[in-house]
Amino acid sequence: MDFSFTESQQKAFDEAYAFAAESLTHGDVDPAFDRDGWRKCADFGAMGVTIPAEFGGRGDSLSEFVAMFEGLAYGAPRRLGLYIAINAHVFGSVETLFKAGTDEQKKRYLKKLATGEWVAAHSVTEPDGGSDIGNMKTIARKDGDRWIINGRKKYTTCGAGADLHVVYAKMDDPDRYRLSCLLVEPGTPGMHVRPLPASGLDGSGLSEVTYENVSVPEANILGKPGSGAMLFQGSIERERACIFGFVLGAMRKQVDIAVQYANERNVGGRPIAGYQAVAHRIADMKMRLDAARLLLYNVTALKAANKRAPTEAAVAKLFISESFLANSMDLCRIHGGNGFLLENGIEGYLRDALGTIIFSGTSDIQRNIIAGQLGVRG
Ligand SMILES: Cc1cc2nc3c(=O)[nH]c(=O)nc-3n(C[C@H](O)[C@H](O)[C@H](O)COP(=O)(O)OP(=O)(O)OC[C@H]3O[C@@H](n4cnc5c(N)ncnc54)[C@H](O)[C@@H]3O)c2cc1C
Repeated sequence: MDFSFTESQQKAFDEAYAFAAESLTHGDVDPAFDRDGWRKCADFGAMGVTIPAEFGGRGDSLSEFVAMFEGLAYGAPRRLGLYIAINAHVFGSVETLFKAGTDEQKKRYLKKLATGEWVAAHSVTEPDGGSDIGNMKTIARKDGDRWIINGRKKYTTCGAGADLHVVYAKMDDPDRYRLSCLLVEPGTPGMHVRPLPASGLDGSGLSEVTYENVSVPEANILGKPGSGAMLFQGSIERERACIFGFVLGAMRKQVDIAVQYANERNVGGRPIAGYQAVAHRIADMKMRLDAARLLLYNVTALKAANKRAPTEAAVAKLFISESFLANSMDLCRIHGGNGFLLENGIEGYLRDALGTIIFSGTSDIQRNIIAGQLGVRG
């Protein structure tokens, strides 16, 4: 088995690294939504990597997509909110529209989304417990040839910048309590978006979205009525499997920073790298990074080959996010007081890492999936 990058993955990584180091390392990030970064990444072509050229994309595979995000974050690791926004846009909306959209929906939206001209947000989670989507309260009621949506969605990435919302709702119809997926444009009467300030992942556009008698035409159902759960399961497994390229890039940068700081920082008449406690901490960071890489590119290869990989996706999501949190903590410890100051940007990794153990299902939920897949009965 050859675990190294293919030529095209290496190209995707190198180009992304050069672009990010040049274009995304300066300037302030708008904490509500990183529009500036979005525009730059759109010009770079980041949003349409896996979408065919006829719809404004590049027609590459997921393997290049993940390598590109590793390169982006290695080049500009303090823009993780932007990268999660692009990933949520791609896995939650663009790919779902590409797979399930009607010709008319694709004509209307896909090119704008794949080129990044438009931003899309997808809303599943509600205030009453995102881990249990069976408990969804948002309802879509049929009224003639329209659907009337009522409900409240929470933690919608990209919500604050979105030009299109992909919202999941239960159908209040003869086939009631099946999920459907609907397309809603902001500005539709009764729809309200409220940005949610968060502790990390600045610029991701995290928002609450409220629907009060929001009326959309029948043609705005994405996929067949009642196919929402199936669409969501397909997109969440791909997201869970492939979203962590940017985290890998950040973890790689963290190891570089740790080595440099440990070699340069003198305490007690010697570089702190000479203390075994510090050196071993860096060794552990590298061990987690390498294991994370193997898990990520293994599951990416499975998803690129269109294989089901529920266990592999859950294992990768669980391990990489928890490893990022552990490495962020270790980086803070290595920096002592310098790691605690906002001005050094070290503690920011820790705040970003907190988000990664929650989105796409918490670590507890990943353990439930893994145990369930192994036949462990609750
Ligand atoms: C940065 C970020 C981006 C996000 N982006 C989106 C998005 O774009 N769209 C979207 O729809 N959602 C999004 N989410 C929401 C995310 O999917 C949910 O936050 C997540 O599923 C957890 O739901 P919750 O926050 O309601 O926690 P809860 O479900 O209330 O869970 C609370 C605690 O209970 C535990 N728990 C709950 N149920 C179980 C169980 N069965 N077994 C074991 N433990 C359990 C959880 O692990 C957790 O520790 C995002 C969240 C974050 C933080």
